[in-house]
Amino acid sequence: MKILLVEDSATLRYAMRNYIIEAGHTPLIAQSGEEALQMLETTPVDMIIMDVEMPGLNGFETTRLIREWLGGHWIPIIFVTGRNEDESYREGIEAGGDDYLIKPVSAMIIKAKIRAMERITEMRDQLNQLNAELEALSQLDSLTQTYNRRTFNEMAQQQWLLAARQQNPISVLMIDVDHFKLYNDHYGHPAGDSCLKKITQAIRDCLNRPFDLLGRYGGEEFIVLLPETDSLGALRVADLINAEMEKIGLRHEVSPTRQHVTVSIGGASCGQTMSYSLEELIKRADRALYKAKHSGRNRSLVDDIAIHKTILVVEQDTLATKTLIQMLTPQYNILYTETAEEALDICIDIHPEAIILDASIADENDERLCRQLARNPKTNNIPIVLISDDSCSLRPISDMTIGIRGCLEKPVDKDALLQKIQFLIN
Ligand code: GH3
Ligand code: MG
Ligand code: MG
Ligand code: MG
Repeated sequence: MKILLVEDSATLRYAMRNYIIEAGHTPLIAQSGEEALQMLETTPVDMIIMDVEMPGLNGFETTRLIREWLGGHWIPIIFVTGRNEDESYREGIEAGGDDYLIKPVSAMIIKAKIRAMERITEMRDQLNQLNAELEALSQLDSLTQTYNRRTFNEMAQQQWLLAARQQNPISVLMIDVDHFKLYNDHYGHPAGDSCLKKITQAIRDCLNRPFDLLGRYGGEEFIVLLPETDSLGALRVADLINAEMEKIGLRHEVSPTRQHVTVSIGGASCGQTMSYSLEELIKRADRALYKAKHSGRNRSLVDDIAIHKTILVVEQDTLATKTLIQMLTPQYNILYTETAEEALDICIDIHPEAIILDASIADENDERLCRQLARNPKTNNIPIVLISDDSCSLRPISDMTIGIRGCLEKPVDKDALLQKIQFLIN
């Protein structure tokens, strides 16, 4: 164990230091209460042996400050003092001490006390471990009373399946508190905990629908699932949360971002859950959060999955093009052209996720466009769906080598087209 010895007398420091080493532990030394507090900010210790009479902060005052600063994290503190009045003993225990020894203390006694405290520390660790296991079994996070990660995931999955069945849009927001480590370092861990509770309430106040789901995903990270909400709606909720944080104005005077506590939010939305997974959506929200953090914090960014998948339609018949666009929006971003040459340029520059190609254009050029795409390493992995007036069953197997992954007969059936595209690009 690392044992912090706080003692202003050089002689006693020397003797006690040796006792600690003889007992098989590592001593850390502070000559005053102030120095002890400073050391604790950077170095975690397992036990403290504290003198009471010291210039500056005395042992009781120092202990009170340490207990306040450590919050729920308990470590044993043993007083070693020349004061042997009952009242002083009472005050020491009241201040947060766990034992009280009267000087002079023999090596034997101090070693036995260290051993006894060590046993209690071990019990504390076991208890913490059990509590963590219990919390994992329960549904709510004990600090914020929001769903814990496991429960959130289970409940979100159910909402996800429902959205899939009803073909509804759905969104996820990841919310991470900005510069929260600095907050803890400055105001102490208990203040940090109470700040997290207030942030939870602020987020809750921005969620109005009964099926909106809020969970604590990690230490200072929250997650929100917004069923029946597209990217615009998700952005609105996210902006509302940023504004609410501004409104409640929790002081954070050491934040490099603002003078109050702010959050960064990354969102992801999809118009239809089909062919995506909840995990993928969360991953995208996480990436958006990363971007929000790195573009200045205190902001929200929502990634719309549907908008990012681009399909190129190569078709000469304007009416047919129009129909295709109607079928594919708003799920996909559509580019279109009438010529093979322009199609090739678009593929090289923009790299669409798939191409819908009028068979007559492919044929006119002796399938030149498909061959050119297949030869170019920038474009050879773009799947092509032919649309044709003829029966598609006559297409040769060799089509596969030039990127053609499917053929649909005109007039194109909407469901068949969507199914084909979803199969090819996910
Ligand atoms: P950033 O803006 O990049 O998110 O900076 P940050 O300091 O918030 O992020 P970092 O991940 O470095 O630190 C997160 C801190 O959140 C670490 C820890 O001090 C604090 N924290 C995590 N969980 C809790 C908790 O339950 N209570 C308290 N008080 N603090 C917590
Ligand atoms: Mg002293
Ligand atoms: Mg953070
Ligand atoms: Mg974080």
